[in-house]
Amino acid sequence: MTKYVYLFREANQTMRNLLGGKGANLAEMTNLGMPVPQGFTVSTEACTQYYKDGRRINEEIEKQILDALHETEKITGKTFGDNENPFLVSVRSGARTSMPGMMDTILNLGLNDVAVEGLAKVTGNPRFAYDSYRRFITMFSDVVMEIPKSNFDEIFDAKKESRGIEEDTDLTAEDLKEIVASFKVRYKELEGEDFPQDPKDQLINAVKAVFRSWDNPRANYYRRMNNIPYEWGTAVNVQAMVFGNMGETSGTGVAFTRNPATGEHKFFGEYLFNAQGEDVVAGVRTPKPISELEKDNPKVYKQFREISDKLEKHYKDMQDMEFTIERGELFILQTRNGKRTAQAALKIAIDMVEEGLLTEQEAILKVEPKALDALLHPTFDPEALKAAEVITQGLNASPGAATGRVAFTADRAAEMAKDGLPVILVREETTTEDIEGMAVSAGVLTSRGGMTSHAAVVARGMGTCCVAGAGEVKVNEAAKTFKVNGHSFKEGDYISLDGSTGKVYGGKVKTVEASVSGDFAKLMEWADKYRALKVRTNADNPRDAKVAYEFGAQGIGLCRTEHMFFESERIGPFRQMIVSKTPEERAEALNKILPMQKEDFVGLYKAMQGYPVTIRFLDPPLHEFLPHEDEEIKELAKEMGLNFDELKHTVESLKESNPMLGHRGVRLSITYPEIAKMQTTAVIQAALEVNKGGMNVVPEIMIPLVGEIKELKYIKEIVVATADELIKESGQKLEYSVGTMIEIPRAALLADEIATEAEFFSFGTNDLTQMTFGFSRDDAGTFLADYYDKKIFVADPFAHVDQRGVGKLMKMAVENGRATREGMKMGICGEHGGDPESVEFCHEIGLSYVSCSPFRVPIARLAAAHANIKNPRK
Ligand code: ADP
Ligand code: MG
Ligand code: MG
Repeated sequence: MTKYVYLFREANQTMRNLLGGKGANLAEMTNLGMPVPQGFTVSTEACTQYYKDGRRINEEIEKQILDALHETEKITGKTFGDNENPFLVSVRSGARTSMPGMMDTILNLGLNDVAVEGLAKVTGNPRFAYDSYRRFITMFSDVVMEIPKSNFDEIFDAKKESRGIEEDTDLTAEDLKEIVASFKVRYKELEGEDFPQDPKDQLINAVKAVFRSWDNPRANYYRRMNNIPYEWGTAVNVQAMVFGNMGETSGTGVAFTRNPATGEHKFFGEYLFNAQGEDVVAGVRTPKPISELEKDNPKVYKQFREISDKLEKHYKDMQDMEFTIERGELFILQTRNGKRTAQAALKIAIDMVEEGLLTEQEAILKVEPKALDALLHPTFDPEALKAAEVITQGLNASPGAATGRVAFTADRAAEMAKDGLPVILVREETTTEDIEGMAVSAGVLTSRGGMTSHAAVVARGMGTCCVAGAGEVKVNEAAKTFKVNGHSFKEGDYISLDGSTGKVYGGKVKTVEASVSGDFAKLMEWADKYRALKVRTNADNPRDAKVAYEFGAQGIGLCRTEHMFFESERIGPFRQMIVSKTPEERAEALNKILPMQKEDFVGLYKAMQGYPVTIRFLDPPLHEFLPHEDEEIKELAKEMGLNFDELKHTVESLKESNPMLGHRGVRLSITYPEIAKMQTTAVIQAALEVNKGGMNVVPEIMIPLVGEIKELKYIKEIVVATADELIKESGQKLEYSVGTMIEIPRAALLADEIATEAEFFSFGTNDLTQMTFGFSRDDAGTFLADYYDKKIFVADPFAHVDQRGVGKLMKMAVENGRATREGMKMGICGEHGGDPESVEFCHEIGLSYVSCSPFRVPIARLAAAHANIKNPRK
């Protein structure tokens, strides 16, 4: 029989997949002898089973839950629903990786009309007991029954008003008792039955609600963003309650062993006295810094420091802990590897090596490649900053600089972001519902909440700039305005945030590009030491190539020559070439293009300082270069001295039903070999020129869209004849190679044949993905959303290599290609070359290099190091 439920003391940290991160760590801390309120974890397999059973908890699982509950009662010496010393629990979700967007935790479960009296008795504090009960009714109704909180807030606020009270804490036990009574009446009105009094029913329904939340839209969105499989499921933790809200010797808080924003090796955290659960993170009350606990309760502080040190050493990582103090006694409720900014991740990794806690390899693995993205974003231009006006200051919750237009709701932010201009989401505080809006925003500003508030934590996770708790900002969401220190801003107005200083500026502030220095440079140096894959860049002009070189690119893996022709002074001769009617006319047009193309290549070679440069010959369908509207055609005809009808005819004749599968790539050169000849001339002449100046460039000529060996052979002969003649004429020596892209499934299938002519392969995984799946990447966007909704795809195959299908073709092509040509150079130049997970795959199948956009080069370098550390290449 499957074991679905584990007591904390039966499990340990290695059981993360089965028990979720939270559950595995609660078990581990229990084993380490730390003060953890006891309980049990219902496994992720139970969650999967719940879905298999048609969203119900079967009898076996229910029995195991109730047995574990009984065991936990014995451990704690308390009884569920007891009128003397009632056992109360929290019900907490916990997947393999921490996942915002899942169900909110339910606290104080087990309370009913009897137990509340028991709780009053055992604590001698009826006020506390009824306060807990009214919180529980609200939470249970909200989370399990999906009754909006506002139903209860209304009653609560009306009571405060009728009593003329401002602070919740001024309500008496009697008041709260009446509130609870009214809550129960409201519940019955809405649900048609009494608030559940049987604690076991409460528990089973809560567990169900956690399982259900695995499939809510927020969770699904988060999973897609982070490529987390739906099949994992979530675990549920049921844990004895401890109370931080039992008066001034009680409290609750969160702490980090190091600063999660800067990485500074200094204990960091916040807490609140007389508070429970989410009070700290929800930003309702502004918490105190953890350092004050040292004065408030030195004994507990010292104990907590010892525990946190031990946890950090144990997990060899910065820990993010939740704790509660119940009448002077410390309990640890959670520990996990803390989320951190990219800067902090680098600093912590490097410090831990210096402290002897980690090896270089371990440290490299602690830094998520995609986290580096945040460091590759701009910062404010120091000059522009001097002129900018600081309108207020909040907490520096997540670093980076952002300028954008104000939006007051997540939905509006998402709408506004569609036009491509940056948006800044401004809210009092954020909740899990705002995640999607935060993801599309350049920055987030909140007026409430601390460094561990929802906004701060989520923004840090996303690498989005965030200023939190800017208390002077008065948000009026309904009116779509905010006021701060005499300034007033409405939706669409520009503001700027500096997430590293917490400063907020009115208007736009100019930003400057990032560079690799300090801790970043050091970690990159280590990464380079341990990787096997080379990292190149996709660059079409010397400017991008220089940026990439600065970021560590070891060559160009893809230069798309057509991009050079869209510039205004070049498009003319290029169009002339397209409309030419005879080879002579075409040759004349191409002659005009040749010197420009040559200059481009000279620039690229120089920017790459002798690293290899792969130049892909003309690829897109020709119609892309011509106008399509009559007006424009008329104008162009005039410019080119052609008659309108003739040009119109040419444009029409280039129209294709499926341009993606049409006259493009190598097919163009088959029809117009002059193009290949001209491009070869430019590549070779440019190389001869820079090599004469002392460099040693080895150009790589890459023929796109080959599916048949004879296509390649035909073009290669022209290329080689042209190149060899030029080299001979020059009297210089020059090495060059001719290879192909593997982007048509047929080429992958016949890689052994293709390799007889091709001297290198480069996987064009954009086209290869499109053609393997048989859907156009320009149109997939319209229906892929349905695929995600229906869980047919988890992730976008154009963002992460489809390892099973497309990956199989790649693997085969690598093996078969190298069987023909030993040690053949192979790379990837599709978008996937900058995706960490795809980079790891490329390492595994034995590619020589990955090539990606300049800003992804450091990410690819780190991902390549991860791959080789985890799975070293022989
Ligand atoms: P999240 O994953 O969103 O952090 P948690 O399950 O950790 O959710 O819990 C939310 C809040 O409830 C935290 O502040 C946590 O400390 C508190 N909490 C959870 N379980 C208990 C418990 N048994 N006793 C007291 N507080 C608890
Ligand atoms: Mg939560
Ligand atoms: Mg938590």
